[in-house]
Amino acid sequence: MKHLLVLGAGTAGTMVVNRLRRQLDKAQWKITVVDPQATHYYQPGFLFIPFGIYQEKDVVKPKSAFIPSGVELIAASVDRVEPEHNQVKLTDGRTLPYDFLVIATGAQTRPDQTPGLLDGEWYKSIYDFYTLDGAVALGDKLRNWQGGRLVVNVVENPIKCPVAPLEFLMLADWFFHEKGIRDRVELIYATPLSGAFTKPIAAQKLGHLLEEKNIKVVPDFMVEHVEAEAKKLISYDEQEVAYDLLVSVPLNMGDAAMARSGLGDELNYVPVDKHTFVSPKYANIFVLGDAAAVPTSKAGSVAHFAVDCFADNFLDYVAGKEMHTSFDGHANCFIESGFGKGLLVDFNYETEPLPGCYPLPGVGPFTLLEESKINHWGKLMFRPIYWNILLKGRKMPLPAHMSMAGKVQ
Ligand SMILES: Cc1cc2nc3c(=O)[nH]c(=O)nc-3n(C[C@H](O)[C@H](O)[C@H](O)COP(=O)(O)OP(=O)(O)OC[C@H]3O[C@@H](n4cnc5c(N)ncnc54)[C@H](O)[C@@H]3O)c2cc1C
Repeated sequence: MKHLLVLGAGTAGTMVVNRLRRQLDKAQWKITVVDPQATHYYQPGFLFIPFGIYQEKDVVKPKSAFIPSGVELIAASVDRVEPEHNQVKLTDGRTLPYDFLVIATGAQTRPDQTPGLLDGEWYKSIYDFYTLDGAVALGDKLRNWQGGRLVVNVVENPIKCPVAPLEFLMLADWFFHEKGIRDRVELIYATPLSGAFTKPIAAQKLGHLLEEKNIKVVPDFMVEHVEAEAKKLISYDEQEVAYDLLVSVPLNMGDAAMARSGLGDELNYVPVDKHTFVSPKYANIFVLGDAAAVPTSKAGSVAHFAVDCFADNFLDYVAGKEMHTSFDGHANCFIESGFGKGLLVDFNYETEPLPGCYPLPGVGPFTLLEESKINHWGKLMFRPIYWNILLKGRKMPLPAHMSMAGKVQ
């Protein structure tokens, strides 16, 4: 009997065990997944909680509901991987041997890494929305906030869903309009990037949209510390940004167990081949989802397309055959822009987000890099699709690889 061990039962780990339990012979393969958290979070839904659009109940379900029969779920935390011995040590002292290992331990926010963020003002005048607790606390704050200078600051890239801070600002613009206090709120985006987004065409489109909405961008802002009492962000080159309310996207890092295992880079992400997800050091270790150091977005859509490619290849790989599918870095993401509208971006390692329509040329129905109501509905539809189709490893009628059909160059 061979043993496939999966670390992390989040988006990627759950999809992997569902896909592979169907594909692998039960008489020959045992599958185990390890995760200390009993709750699965629909993280894209955190964005809507501060504005009262979603509640906590909309984004949580028990993890066990998504683990198929024939897969053992161990509620424990990984202490370290010992790749030389093909085994994983858990923090409770247990040891799990494996033949093949999938690391899917994701990325977490680390406010402790920026001096001042946690100094007494956390969840008083400094909030985050990348965690459920943060999103709920920020919702409570915004409900009665009477206005002032609201600054969204990204500490450093890469972050999960790099468009989420922009979405937050555009939803905030809508929210304060609806409350009738938009003229009393200044919206500022302090970002380490030189514009609103990384890729040139998207940066230009999104930059214009922010300008139209009177959201000011402070580019090239690398925060060094926060003066929580004085309510100021201070950058490495000694620029200052003052705020009344700070919404921080703290440093995102991979799990510390990867550093303890000697597998992680300086941010604890694990280097892998960007087309096959195989570790360059260990031929029986794969890394999927946000935990992987690959040059595409850290996003659920990427995890989904990546798992599609990985699952297609795995049977060939364990049979010693060549892998026939190569992941292209495909990512797509709806971008909420407020007032019931949204945009969509679709790109990969080689092709930046382009205008056009998706998925059908000339038909859409979704518009690329262009605001539309249907994109907003697409974003909202994503939640039932996530719970009922994607997590359960069911196939979507969309190819894992990016297509140029419908894109305008
Ligand atoms: C605010 C926000 C908005 C987002 N919006 C979008 C969006 O619109 N579209 C999109 O595609 N993506 C979006 N994302 C990103 C998306 O949620 C993530 O990219 C996706 O969940 C990554 O999946 P993952 O499996 O790699 O990590 P996760 O789903 O985070 O799972 C990692 C799992 O590993 C477990 N784990 C960690 N350490 C250990 C350990 N030591 N031992 C055992 N288990 C461990 C954790 O408990 C967790 O269950 C958003 C994220 C946020 C925060």
